[in-house]
Amino acid sequence: MTIQRLRGTQDILPSRVQYWQYIEGVIRAACRDFGYQEIRTPIFEFTELFVRGVGETTDIVNKEMYTFMDQGNNSLTLRPECTAAVCRAYVENKLYGQVEQPVKLYYIGPMFRHEKPQAGRFRQFHQLGVEVLGADQPVVDAETIRLAWEIYRRLGLTGLQVHLNSIGCPQCRALYKEQLQAFLQPRLGELCADCQSRFARNPLRILDCKQATCQSVAQGVPLMVDFLCADCQSHLDQLRILLDAGNIPYHMNPRLVRGLDYYRKTAFEIIAQDIGAQSAICGGGRYDGLVEEIGGPATPAIGWAMGLERVLSALEMQNKLPVLPDTQFAMIIMLGEQAMAAGFRLTGQLREQGIPVGMDLLGKSLKAQLRAADRNHCRVAVIQGEDELERGMAVVRDLVNGEQREMPQTEVMQYILAIYRQYREEVK
Ligand SMILES: [Zn+2]
Ligand SMILES: [Zn+2]
Repeated sequence: MTIQRLRGTQDILPSRVQYWQYIEGVIRAACRDFGYQEIRTPIFEFTELFVRGVGETTDIVNKEMYTFMDQGNNSLTLRPECTAAVCRAYVENKLYGQVEQPVKLYYIGPMFRHEKPQAGRFRQFHQLGVEVLGADQPVVDAETIRLAWEIYRRLGLTGLQVHLNSIGCPQCRALYKEQLQAFLQPRLGELCADCQSRFARNPLRILDCKQATCQSVAQGVPLMVDFLCADCQSHLDQLRILLDAGNIPYHMNPRLVRGLDYYRKTAFEIIAQDIGAQSAICGGGRYDGLVEEIGGPATPAIGWAMGLERVLSALEMQNKLPVLPDTQFAMIIMLGEQAMAAGFRLTGQLREQGIPVGMDLLGKSLKAQLRAADRNHCRVAVIQGEDELERGMAVVRDLVNGEQREMPQTEVMQYILAIYRQYREEVK
């Protein structure tokens, strides 16, 4: 039996990695332009961090975590998301006291959830996320949404919608929860098993249950936006003014929820309309209570995460993946053992000059090496056989127009350097 990769994981092969690198490049440039700095936290943490930080009533913690005991009898978990880890790092490294606030961070990396395998869902998947800690102004919410929007704009994705809601604060939400429970109580028996268990502790989550019966029971429920306190209402009003000013179109979606107590006020998602059922490509919100929940000082914070697999598939569906530039400029084609050493030397000299060049490693025929040059999008080939070598000459062939010329071996390096510089000028 050969060993295969785990279900829900993927080998990202070079032909695809180039697109990942492209997306990551756009993301890093946008984050840098917005003044966000990268943070890298461990892939695994104490399980307790996620139980407290993600919430013990969530599906993630209850059903989807990869948890194991290590040899020191510690319960550890592969990170299912990164916000809790970033908050832990913020507290543990005292970023609240030692650097200027707010702290604007982003991360890119793999996350792990034991989900039911289905199209577009992976057990190891990749997220970009941003977290802004230490500021509670609505303009921070607006700026984080704008960063996500800007990343999609730079990637060329279209047909996106921001869905926005406020889920209030612990004060106004407590009142709302009572209203919601009173409304749902008479039809509690019709809800799915998950929603029945959500009813007492986490009734807001019933609003986004995908089961048809739950959706019909939840029709006409009272909505959080009608119960906001003055502070939450003005935060939302201000955010909407800013999004309008920033020319970021959004829909109010009063059924968009975040179920946990530490979420406050702003909740949002960005929906891609034409990539099928899994259409939210970004989700986030304000989580003013989380840093305190995991043992830090009370710290307002907001963040979002986007699934990079979904971004990639949206780009593919909209045909927005770029044609990537030439991978190599020149192919050094050496025929015979003696020429090989001369070719190896020339290849080194050209690479020292920063010119991307390739060289055959298998002793292939001239024809096969020219095919390889073609595959690598080379624009020029340097060809040297035993005969040229003896005369101290080499052939330089222009692979775009087929013209070729023979020149002294000593001049090849300067010649290639000159045409490479000219090519770079033209590409600019
Ligand atoms: Zn409130
Ligand atoms: Zn349900």
